[in-house]
Amino acid sequence: MVKKNEIISASSPLSSLKGVGPKKAEALSRLGLERVSQILSHFPRSYEDMRSLKSISELADGEKALVRARVLLVTQGRGFGRNRTLRLLTEDMSGRMEVLFFKAGYMSRAFRQGEEYSFFGKVKNENGRILMFHPSFSPAAEGEEGILPVYPLSRGLSQKDMRKLVREVLSFPDVIEEQLPAEIIAKEKLCGREYAIRNIHFPEDEDKYHEARYRLVFEELFDLRAALMLSADRFGAGRKGRSVSSGGAERFIETLSFELTGAQKRAISEILSDMKSDTAMNRLVQGDVGSGKTAVAEAAISEAVGAGLQAAFMAPTEILASQHFESLSRDLEPLGMRTALITGSMNASERQAALKGLSDGSINVAVGTHALISESVRFKDLALVITDEQHRFGVNQRKKLSEKSDNPDVLVMTATPIPRTLAVVLYGDLDVSVIDELPAGRKPVKTLSFGEGERGDAYKILLSEVGEGRQGYIVAPFIEDSESVNGRSAEELYQSFTDEHPDISCALLHGGMKQGEKDAVMRDYAEGKTSVLISTVVIEVGINVPNASVMIIENSERFGLAQMHQLRGRVGRGAAQSWCLLIIGEESEIAKSRAEILCSTGDGFVIAESDLELRGPGEFFGFRQHGLPQLTLADPVRHAGLASKAGKAAEELIKKDPSLSAPENAGLRSRLDEIFVNIDGITI
Ligand code: ADP
Ligand code: MG
Repeated sequence: MVKKNEIISASSPLSSLKGVGPKKAEALSRLGLERVSQILSHFPRSYEDMRSLKSISELADGEKALVRARVLLVTQGRGFGRNRTLRLLTEDMSGRMEVLFFKAGYMSRAFRQGEEYSFFGKVKNENGRILMFHPSFSPAAEGEEGILPVYPLSRGLSQKDMRKLVREVLSFPDVIEEQLPAEIIAKEKLCGREYAIRNIHFPEDEDKYHEARYRLVFEELFDLRAALMLSADRFGAGRKGRSVSSGGAERFIETLSFELTGAQKRAISEILSDMKSDTAMNRLVQGDVGSGKTAVAEAAISEAVGAGLQAAFMAPTEILASQHFESLSRDLEPLGMRTALITGSMNASERQAALKGLSDGSINVAVGTHALISESVRFKDLALVITDEQHRFGVNQRKKLSEKSDNPDVLVMTATPIPRTLAVVLYGDLDVSVIDELPAGRKPVKTLSFGEGERGDAYKILLSEVGEGRQGYIVAPFIEDSESVNGRSAEELYQSFTDEHPDISCALLHGGMKQGEKDAVMRDYAEGKTSVLISTVVIEVGINVPNASVMIIENSERFGLAQMHQLRGRVGRGAAQSWCLLIIGEESEIAKSRAEILCSTGDGFVIAESDLELRGPGEFFGFRQHGLPQLTLADPVRHAGLASKAGKAAEELIKKDPSLSAPENAGLRSRLDEIFVNIDGITI
């Protein structure tokens, strides 16, 4: 069927292109590609440089090479199912080469005998026998030359299809619009968008490819920063505030039973000088679990309350909010401050009393969940807003809390270490205090890793701690068993543990339970009524049970490094030596090296940097979960310098045109709206 030559624009559906029928359209949509413009931002994952095509007889041991060869024979090796080895015998005009893929049962149908493919990979020459292991490959396209893109594909779509589609779209006039302001392009010496898009897909040569890539990485980081700036005005550096200074922090510090660490003192003095200045505070306090962020927050609160003003402290869950409420009321009430807890589950009369106290000023400090931002919560004079584990809140939620008064001082606290390079893109101008020191005398958690065959040894340590009257956690990657993934579930572990140790009181906790049930389980555990808590990652943040001295993480290969570090922070909170025991279910090099990092360091920043390197920024920060698009080309670790340039350029532009409403910025604004579907919903 020949399609009418419709007028095709960037926003036309892909099915309006020649050669895209319903099947292809479906395959494309599995890659998230629906519209013409999206094809052009589907960047190649690698390239085949046909200019450097080699024949089999000239291959040298150890070199990486591109070879075009015909498949003579496809054989499946030993192993079962997904674990089977796939072996190809291939040939070109000059000789033969074997191609091997391990654990490749799923690939058995990727090759057809008699067909020609391009293979790119490392060559091994074993006494004249030429081998290539796990090369990237694609069906060889006749007559293609130059540098060819290799795209991520989905079922029903070949490299040839994708290349053809991209070429077709590139042939339309005016599909690529410049969206960065000319001034920025000139200042940063960037190439134009059209040139960049053409050369990222079909680079004319290496130099042009690098120019293109530089421009597109810049654009990606610029977009991210600009979208975050648009979504909230909290970063507006130099926001007018009021000067708060009362000596309240000093008086609070005198009542502490311990000496503050140097890092805590530094953070407090930075906060006090922000509060004293007449621009509003915008400060992030990053401190590893157990570094004593609460005392820092309490000092800031005391300073505000000392001046006759109010403070609000928001935490992401009810359990955390009530733990904070307990510490704050214990530490601050003796100094004459009144505190109240505001959550969604409190009863009407308690709520009424708390609301009244806040609006008439008789209550000085409100602690709560996001219930704090509801319309009915009004303050007499709110001067300080603190959010804990702030990346759990939407930008919008935090903004709403700040709007309960005129430009209050804002303090955000997190135990998720954000590498400096990424922080630049995410937070820009936000001031950062780092608490990089643990209170003296704290025993670091001993971390050990075990293979599947040694799990008994890990459990021996747990049982011995429990025998001493202490408590333990067992963390599983999922709630229930499933056929599609390997690994132990919380339910299975709970079953087997209770069967084997009927004398030990143990409880199950997971995200599928109702909030009330979870709270009850946590309360029992905190009060020592249960000895072992078997759970999914729901215990991740903030829980404080000093008697818990051991944690087993099952299938540690399924957790992120930073996540395990957070989990580990649940133990080591008391006087006893604590243990974190990683059980690697499916051993692989990467699983082992990750376990090694955790065993060798307790420094959250080192761990975060490694995590970022191992997994890439998208997964590291859970960009998707937070409503941020995946960074496809940019890597804030490697592109640190570029990230900061792009970030600054975005900030300058947004400062000049805060809502991007100038006509010359309309294109940029609409692209940002398109990529960041719900800018207000972004959570960082
Ligand atoms: P986090 O930074 O994880 O929120 P917390 O503020 O909950 O840490 O502090 C953890 C524990 O350490 C608390 O019991 C707190 O009282 C204690 N603590 C905080 N600072 C010090 C210090 N300088 N010396 C001794 N103990 C401290
Ligand atoms: Mg805390």
